[in-house]
Amino acid sequence: MKFKILTLFPEIFPGPLKYSLIGKALKKKIFTIETVNIRDFSEKKSKSVDDTPYGGGAGMVIKADIMQRALESAKKNLECKSKVIFLSPGGKQLNTELIGDLVKIKELILICGKYEGIDDRFLKKNKIEEISVGDYVLSGGEIASFILIDTCVRLIPEVLGNKNSLKSESFQNHLLEYPQYTKPYNWEGIKVPEILLNGNHREISDWRLKKSIEKTKKIRPDLIIKFNKSKKEEV
Ligand code: SAH
Repeated sequence: MKFKILTLFPEIFPGPLKYSLIGKALKKKIFTIETVNIRDFSEKKSKSVDDTPYGGGAGMVIKADIMQRALESAKKNLECKSKVIFLSPGGKQLNTELIGDLVKIKELILICGKYEGIDDRFLKKNKIEEISVGDYVLSGGEIASFILIDTCVRLIPEVLGNKNSLKSESFQNHLLEYPQYTKPYNWEGIKVPEILLNGNHREISDWRLKKSIEKTKKIRPDLIIKFNKSKKEEV
């Protein structure tokens, strides 16, 4: 997968994506990151990219003409089918299903906003899809793009060593993951549940499913509705 990132802060990348399993995948070029500095497309001597919002209000808005030039430059030398995404709290919320669709695309162009955002005419003219990483406001799209890239890359088959670890993770089958334990067996007087020690895989997987359902009911009742619906569809 190839990620092209339009940002005012290219020096932030690859940042946290340099480490651990994702970092190894980056080194092996299983995915690549390229940045485009939005500021390079300002025609002003000061290199400013924003102006005050029409209609008044706080903050500044990134100008459409500058974004258009930056996007056209990013779209040059495209090798394959690509998709352009604006990371924005006003977008469709990123979830497992959406990530599954994004991983199928070879090249993603990610636009990171700043200040109050980007002139809406640029987004509409280019029919850009907006994606949000959650119902809160970050101060810039860069952290959101780290989240999107990390979640996509870990779904590329060669990235995680054990494919099974993906299957049982939270949000697969609309459930949160069951509790996990490792050695020692007795830590500060708290013992690991006996059932995990008996080697009976059937009993262990039944226990884990029960714990997943219990936790999801308590923490995320909205997911349990989806889980029950998917079970009904299976029958
Ligand atoms: N005024 C905007 C928020 C701007 S925050 C509003 O109320 O919707 C500045 C930039 O941070 C945004 O343009 C976007 O690129 C990024 N950002 C903030 N919160 C985000 C979120 N939840 N998901 C994705 N990107 C986000």
